This record gives sequence, C-alpha cells and structure tokens, in this order.
Amino acid sequence: MTERFADIQLLRYEVPGFDGLPLRQKLLVYYLAEASLLGRDILWDQNSRYGLQIRKTLEAIYTHYQGDKNNSDWLAFVVYLKRVWFSNGIHHHYSCLKFQPEFSKAFFLAEINKLEASKLPLDIDELSEIIFNPKVMPKRVNHADGEDLLLTSSCNYYEEGITQAEAEAFYAELKQRTDPQRPPMIGLNSRLERSSDGSLHENVWQSGGLYGKAIDRICEMLEKARHYAENDKQKAVIDKLVEYYRTGNLKTFDEYAILWVNETESEVDFTNGFTEVYGDPLGYKASWEGYVNIVDHEATTRAKTLSDNAQWFENQSPVDERFKKKECKGVSAKVISAAMLGGDLYPSSAIGINLPNSDWIRAEFGSKSVTISNLTRAYNLAAKGSGMRQEFVIDEETRQLIDKYGDVCDDLHTDLHECLGHGSGQLLPGVDADALRSYGSTIEEARADLFGLYYIADQKLVELGLTPNTEAYKSQYYSYLMNGLLTQLVRIEEGDQIEEAHMRNRALISRWALANYPEALEIVKVDGKHYVRINDYELLRKAFGELLAEIQRIKSEGDFEAARQLVEQYGIKTDAELHHEIRERYKRLDLAPYKGFINPKYKLVQDDEGNALDVHIVYDEAYDEQMLRYGQQYSTL
Ligand code: ZN
Repeated sequence: MTERFADIQLLRYEVPGFDGLPLRQKLLVYYLAEASLLGRDILWDQNSRYGLQIRKTLEAIYTHYQGDKNNSDWLAFVVYLKRVWFSNGIHHHYSCLKFQPEFSKAFFLAEINKLEASKLPLDIDELSEIIFNPKVMPKRVNHADGEDLLLTSSCNYYEEGITQAEAEAFYAELKQRTDPQRPPMIGLNSRLERSSDGSLHENVWQSGGLYGKAIDRICEMLEKARHYAENDKQKAVIDKLVEYYRTGNLKTFDEYAILWVNETESEVDFTNGFTEVYGDPLGYKASWEGYVNIVDHEATTRAKTLSDNAQWFENQSPVDERFKKKECKGVSAKVISAAMLGGDLYPSSAIGINLPNSDWIRAEFGSKSVTISNLTRAYNLAAKGSGMRQEFVIDEETRQLIDKYGDVCDDLHTDLHECLGHGSGQLLPGVDADALRSYGSTIEEARADLFGLYYIADQKLVELGLTPNTEAYKSQYYSYLMNGLLTQLVRIEEGDQIEEAHMRNRALISRWALANYPEALEIVKVDGKHYVRINDYELLRKAFGELLAEIQRIKSEGDFEAARQLVEQYGIKTDAELHHEIRERYKRLDLAPYKGFINPKYKLVQDDEGNALDVHIVYDEAYDEQMLRYGQQYSTL
C-alpha cells in the first residue's frame, strides 16, 4: 500500500473529522492548503541553485520515457528521481550528502536527446557534471569545524564565492544596528549577494523581489482563505502575514508572529513562511515551509483533563514534600491533526512543532506548542507491521497486551510527560537551575518520563477515563523497558556510546530498575537472543516511584555529583556484544530508517456559477502522481 525505495518508506496520514467540518472551515483548510503547496519551488531553489532545473529535466525524462521498463538504468533512474523528490533536491534530506546516481551518464544523455527542444535543460554538460561528478557540490550543509562553511556548503542562501568570514562580518555589523531588546531575526528572509563594487547586499524574498512570483501566488491564496477565517484575530494574522510577504520587513514578521501566537481560539491553524534555519550552515536563513492543521478535540481534551488535575498528581507524587509545588498548573498542549504538509515539512515531517523561533517573542508572548496526532498514528500503524514486536517482544501474551493498549498508553505517557512531568516539582530556594550542567537535560527528561511511568499505572487514570482498565499500563512498562534496554540501540552505530538526552534518560531508568529490582525484571536469553522479561509489574511501579523521588531530590537540591554518577553509571555506556546482536536482528527486518508522507488531495466542488458546494478529501494518489502533479500545478519559479 505504501511505497518503499532506497532508505525511505512513504506513509499516508488521514485527516480525521475533515468530512464533518462545516463548509466554511473546509474552505479555510482548502485555501490554506493551496498556500502551503505554492511555496514548494522556493525550497527547491534554496536547497540548490540547480534544483529546479534538475527536477524539471528528470521529470521530463520520466514522463517521456518509451524504453524498456526493466532496463537496469531505467530502474536506477526511477529510484534516483524518487530520492530527489523526497529530499527536495539532489542531497539526502538528513545526511545532506549528494546522491550518487546508479544509472549511466550515457543513459541520461541519450534520454535527454530524445526530448523536444523546449524541454531540454539550458546547459546539459553543466547539469550532468552536477549530477554525476561526486566532487561537485558534495554536501548541502557542512558543519565541519575549521572549514569555510559557506564555500563547502552547496545550499543556495549565499551567492557563490562569498566566504564565511565575509558573511559573518556583514551580519555582525547589521546586528549592531538592531534593537538589542527586541532584535528581529536578521538575515532570515534573503539571499546574500555581491554587488558590482564587491560589497555585499541582501536580495530579499518578497513580492517583487527574489521568489516574488511564488510569494504573490501564496498571498493570493491567503487572501482567499481570509474570507473564511474563523474570527477577527485570525483575519489579522493573515493580513499581517501578507503585509510581511509584500514588504519583506522583518519587524512586520515579528508583529505577525505575535498576532499568531496570541491567536489560540481557531479550530484551523497554519504556518506559512521562512521558518527553520537548519539548512543554512551559519543559521541565519530560513527554508520555506507551510502546513495546515485542525485541532484534535479528543486528544486535546485528554491533555486538558490531566492539566486540570495537575495539583492532585503533584500532591500524590512519591517525592519529598519539600520538593513539591504548592500551586501546580499543568501545561495544556494542543493536539492537532495535520491537514496539509508543504515545503520543508514535506514529505519528511516533524511530529511536534513549537513556534515562533524568536527568543524575545517567546519570552514576552510565549509560544504555540503542538503535537501532531495523525502523523504519530501513521507511524504507529507502520510500526505494527514492521516485525519489531515479533522479533523483540518476549512472548505472545505480551505482544497481545501491546497490540491492545500500546497506542493509547504511548499517547498517554507522552501527555503525562509533557503536560505534568516537566511542570512538576520545585527547586529549593537558592538552587541554581543550571546546577546539573551537562547532566541537566538527561535528569530533566528522566524526571518527566518517571512521572509518566509512575502515574500511568495509577487507579486515578481509570477514574478519569484515560485508561480502559488497571492492566493497560503494563503495555507501556514493557515497551518502555524493551526500548530502554534493547531496541533503542539500533539508532546508534556500533562502538558509539549513547549521547542524546532522551536516549540517555531511557537507558538510565531501565538499567537502574534492572540493577536495583532484579525480582521485578530481567534480561533473559532464549535461543541465543536476548529479551526483556517482566516478572512483577507492581514492584516495577514501586521502583519507578523510588527513582522519581531520588531524581526529584537531585534536581531540587542541585546535586551535581549524584546526577553525574547516575547518568555515567546507567545512561551512557553500551555493551558491545548486546549492541551487535540487537543491530543484526534489526537489520534482518529490513526496515526503512526514514519515513515521509503522501499528502491527501482536496477537491473543490463548485456549481455552474462557481459557488463552492463542498471540499472532498481523497487519499488515493500515488507518490509519483503527487510529485508530478505538484510539479505542474504548483510550479511558480
Ligand atoms: Zn521532555
């Protein structure tokens, strides 16, 4: 059903509740979705100055090919094109390394020669050099210390030949002239170029400027969407965004971000613009992205139920009274369903988003934090068929438990972690919040995870209607420990240690429980393979409570030495033999390490006079169909 090639698997996501929306909201989604597809070409050009030309050439070959479709050159060409589509360019979306085509240059040139002149690329020699020569543009974003990051990165945010030192000097000077209290995000929406006199200037992405054609079409759709906005606040958000696109003024962008962050009433929300700076080695310039979302009422209610009861959870927690918050407010995270993914969020997408990125706006006005439930659901669905559970869960009984309750308890654990865990507890007076230094984030994640693990087994959750019964939590205990002790190791190269804070925290909690509560759980070897076996779930809950109390003490007292010992003893090292075994078992499952999404398709239904009657959503488009259609319908540059 879903497509697999190279290291990629494509999934579909459904948009629950779309069909039941009133027409007005459907139309709002429709036009915002159009706006989030119309910036696609901007991203392609940002990723590489040859990106659009290469895409158009490859697509022309793909659609005009008449030869044998079992030919190995053709098959390799198709994989290459699918990878280029997925990465929005010729470099891997994650590693940033250039793809090496496995079809021959002769095949490529022969197919180009068969195209009509109007479909031919401008300079075939140059283009084939870029595609085939591994030394040309090898890396999109280079972070290697000591090298000139601009000269060695092939992204298109800076004109060729501009050095890192020149760009840094340009922005250092610009920074001196900005308001230090409320600095705009300088450099965010422009390409840095060289003038004829050798000096540097910004070519701004705005209406009438660079990418102006794409931006005008985005604005046109935003204005249509405005007509169906849910309230005046949302209208003001759209107006300000259009004003920013028209002027390119970064102060206007900040005003827009403030309006957007304060607009929390609408059911349908969106972002559209130059947002994340990971694609620029210097971190100034933002890639274009857009997405539309609809509130997931059921999941948002779940998060709200927890935060409404925050004080109860705080009072009952197993930590020392001195470390508890007297007045506890839960964080009410909004859960949403993605309705359209565009630009740098497509096909590979985040599952949680927290914006805006401006530090001073976050400090003064806060941020919107969302988790995207329908994408998580699509991942979970894919995981079910992956063979992971068959391979790593110890027995059929436990597998059934996880099949039955795994999803609901995973979501709930995340909610407990986010809505209550991070917000619980307090520091003793005078304790420095940074006292745990480099161990701080692992300890903090462990605290939130333990809060979730401890409470997911509580009768209270059944009373609140959040878990179906007193058995369900066992699925989370098993999955958590299996991940912390075994399966998360597949994400680390052999010989490496655990680095990332969330992974360290999971190892810390799981290995601490294994070492200190051997009656509750063990690692057993069956037919040469290691498995987690849980012998006493209730005792395990006691273990989590005990560790939660200790971790909270460490945090509240700022006990650096205890934090260091816990993390160093349990959270970092990998056992070479076990690591090798887990990686080998995982490899045999032959799973794609990267996943992405095919978007749904919206169809506007109109009467003879052009009045909108309905918007239909369909999920039947194949990956290549969608890519070719986007190349036609949303080609703006
Ligand atoms: Zn966290």
